[in-house]
Amino acid sequence: MESIYNKSFDELVEYFETIGQKKFKATQVFEWLYLKRVKSFDEMSNIKKDIIDVLKKDFVIEDICLDKVERDVEVNKYLFTLNDGNHIESVLMRHDYGTSICISSQVGCNMGCRFCESGRLKKVRNLTAGEMVEQILKVEEDINTRITHVVIMGIGEPFDNFDNFKRFVEIVNYQKGINIGSRHITVSTCGIIPKIREFSEFPYQVNLAISLHAPNNEIRDMLMPINKAYPLDKLMAEIRHYIKTTNRRVTFEYILLSGINDSEECANELCDLVRGLNCYINLIPYNETNNLGYKRSKKDTISKFYDIIKKRKINVTIRREFGSNISAACGQLRSKKEDL
Ligand code: SAH
Repeated sequence: MESIYNKSFDELVEYFETIGQKKFKATQVFEWLYLKRVKSFDEMSNIKKDIIDVLKKDFVIEDICLDKVERDVEVNKYLFTLNDGNHIESVLMRHDYGTSICISSQVGCNMGCRFCESGRLKKVRNLTAGEMVEQILKVEEDINTRITHVVIMGIGEPFDNFDNFKRFVEIVNYQKGINIGSRHITVSTCGIIPKIREFSEFPYQVNLAISLHAPNNEIRDMLMPINKAYPLDKLMAEIRHYIKTTNRRVTFEYILLSGINDSEECANELCDLVRGLNCYINLIPYNETNNLGYKRSKKDTISKFYDIIKKRKINVTIRREFGSNISAACGQLRSKKEDL
């Protein structure tokens, strides 16, 4: 049965119309779900019993189940079991500006990036928008605090689940609901060009991050199979188009892998690639996983790489590290759970 968290406000309005009810019921249900956070239809005390019965017949409320939490000072890692027994993960991070959550968008992933733990499990299925929404609700319940920022950077490729991603944004952004500002939402993609084009027309100002990880096709082909379908020159042209259409800044994520993409030449080539773009580069110290054989770059290699970019006057940061001692690297908790 469908989760009621899967319905956007407009869809719920439509639903009530189809069952011959007034639109404002949608407002009431949204208040119960997202402001009062009830977990059963029976608690919706201003809605008549016969309508409650119809709702119960058509929807479930709680759909995903919190299985395990690993806690640290600044970060919690959550493992969820879905109603079909699959597992996904979310990570909560405490910042000085608020709390952010990194959510999963699929069970497994088909992108096959060589360095990524998540992709070791091929895509089993897309998450519904409701399952993405519920990750936020369950984590907020656990920490008893409102989450201020969302990144869609957990397990999965959100642009390979584009419709549900869009619906998710619509639901969490809705003002009389979870109400997370679209500028506080960031979606990360490995570079599925046709979806970047669609995203440039999406009427919410969600931030775009691109998993670049290499300054040329030779290295990117080796690390990311998607680059064979959508090579770097085409990707960069699409990003130029995105920036021109939306007037928004793009983030490039660049994992530093020892001996692979962390040389001074690579740093310079990266600067040439993004020169003149409204962007910033986020250098990511690699979270080593047991299974894949890649090593994180040495500290001074990372600083040198950073300095070269900085000198070229391109915005750059080194990602602060969260949770390397609690398996917070993408997909690690799931792998552990399933003993993969
Ligand atoms: N599929 C999307 C979003 C999920 S991956 C994407 O590719 O962007 C989120 C980010 O984590 C990506 O930049 C990914 O390349 C990076 N990542 C994957 N494994 C990592 C690891 N072990 N250490 C650091 N970053 C990793």
